[in-house]
Amino acid sequence: MFNYLYNRNVDDKGMHEIHHLNCKHLPAAENQRAIEGYHLHCLDALEQVKIQTNQDNFDGCWHCCPSCHQG
Ligand SMILES: [Zn+2]
Repeated sequence: MFNYLYNRNVDDKGMHEIHHLNCKHLPAAENQRAIEGYHLHCLDALEQVKIQTNQDNFDGCWHCCPSCHQG
């Protein structure tokens, strides 16, 4: 079970964008990768995805995770 995902492709800043499942701006299905677990806040999903992937180039989507969006 999961409620956040990330884009396997990086944006022009080299960041993987993370999204809530309900986001209207999700990446194409084949580029979606689940963030394990069920998270109440994008900050928790951000922590999880860094552990899960052993990378730290993630940024919250401006639309669904504005409090995790860095620009
Ligand atoms: Zn989003």
